[in-house]
Amino acid sequence: MSHAANLDKKYIWHPFTQMKDWIKQKPIVICEGKGAVLKDDQGNKYLDANSSIWTNLHGHAHPVLNKAIQGQLTRISHSSGLGLANEPSSFLSQKLTRAAHPASSARWNNMVRLKKVFYSDNGSTAMEVALKLAYEAARRTRGIRHPGFVSVKGGYHGDTVGAVSVGHIDLFHKSFSGLLFKSKSVMSPYCYRCPHNRATPERQDARDYRKCKWECLDPVESAFRTRGGNSRTRKPAAMVVEPLMQGAAGMIPQPKGWLSRVAEIVRGQGAFLIADEVMTGFGRTGTLFASHQEKVQPDFMVLAKGLTGGYLPMAATLMTQEVFDAFLGDYGEFKTFFHGHSYFGNQLGSAVADASLGLLSLPDNRRKRKNLEKELRRLLKGLWVLPQVGDIRQVGLIAGIELVKDWKSRLSFPLKDQAGIRVCQKMAEKGVLTRPIGNVVLLMPPYCTTIAQVRKMVRVLEESVTEVFNQT
Ligand code: PMP
Repeated sequence: MSHAANLDKKYIWHPFTQMKDWIKQKPIVICEGKGAVLKDDQGNKYLDANSSIWTNLHGHAHPVLNKAIQGQLTRISHSSGLGLANEPSSFLSQKLTRAAHPASSARWNNMVRLKKVFYSDNGSTAMEVALKLAYEAARRTRGIRHPGFVSVKGGYHGDTVGAVSVGHIDLFHKSFSGLLFKSKSVMSPYCYRCPHNRATPERQDARDYRKCKWECLDPVESAFRTRGGNSRTRKPAAMVVEPLMQGAAGMIPQPKGWLSRVAEIVRGQGAFLIADEVMTGFGRTGTLFASHQEKVQPDFMVLAKGLTGGYLPMAATLMTQEVFDAFLGDYGEFKTFFHGHSYFGNQLGSAVADASLGLLSLPDNRRKRKNLEKELRRLLKGLWVLPQVGDIRQVGLIAGIELVKDWKSRLSFPLKDQAGIRVCQKMAEKGVLTRPIGNVVLLMPPYCTTIAQVRKMVRVLEESVTEVFNQT
């Protein structure tokens, strides 16, 4: 084992990792990356099949992104956003707010303009910003004394205490329940396991998700209905959603129309809609932002991961003029948003984010993403024949393959069987890196992935499922 591997095992506590298992293993030590390929300190090469946990967009060591950072590096890396402006973050903010409003959005109903940007370091902190702003803006502009939040079962919005409060994954969140504020959860439109629509899978790849009466929207409506007391004091201030696809819940796509209907309900109640686009943003779902596919303009848009093309930890919370104005006043009124992080508007991060947005807007980039998405969809169809493949879900370049004990009954593997983990370990041995979410194995290739590379990703997944389950 290399020196770095030894030091890692001696000193580092890894995220979401049972360290008892980790210290028994020989860690893969990554030292180089180029395009969709990662290289370890033993010279082994791997395909980065989950875009380094959903962050990387254009591939590693991209010449345009490298140049943007190098250019900025010669000028300045960081100066404070407290009391100072800087060029890269000013330029980026204009581009981000413009990108959040495609030209066609002027015709959308319930249009709300995202006009202001608040920077932070990661998806969780960007979510905290949205939650605190929504809370206080609801008190000030809606007269709600105790604003609350509604979010979706299985939702994941980060690991800080506020973000965990609106998250609903028991495995991650339950043990911290005593630390959290209460939020209402509504059912997830998890069509594959929908209690209202138990379609029999005669043909596995033709499950009809639309034979329902949108029962999943009833809980959203009732979450906003307040019971007893003074309704103005108890109303939820906002609903938090991961638009089009819930990520950490297990890559759960929403049926077409769910998001726009939810947005209508939320708006109808005078509440804010917070779109957590941390995973879905920056082209991952096909459009630049997932909300755009349903013609939804949220009141807050939460961005991180792909913001810098996967290069640097930087995040942004976009919000409306209305929210911004709720914090304006004479200093002595103390309406200031007393919140901020040391690396607010970091120049290196802003410069690379700006360059990444530039790449995303190139017609060639869009065309390549479309082709890759099409090929991934075609290849994944070949996995339906595997008896352990229960469901295949894809939105844009995000795919989740749910492994089950029995595809007919959709019986899940118990988590302690580590079905997803075992498949991903086998995939790593074969040169493809990804991580499961429980029993769901995911593929989320960087946009630079070649057709040959995506074929290898799917082939290795198929072989690994076959080998892992033939052994047991
Ligand atoms: N929101 C969503 C939808 C996410 O998927 C994640 C991270 N997986 C977060 C928020 C938190 O982001 P971070 O890990 O950067 O704090």
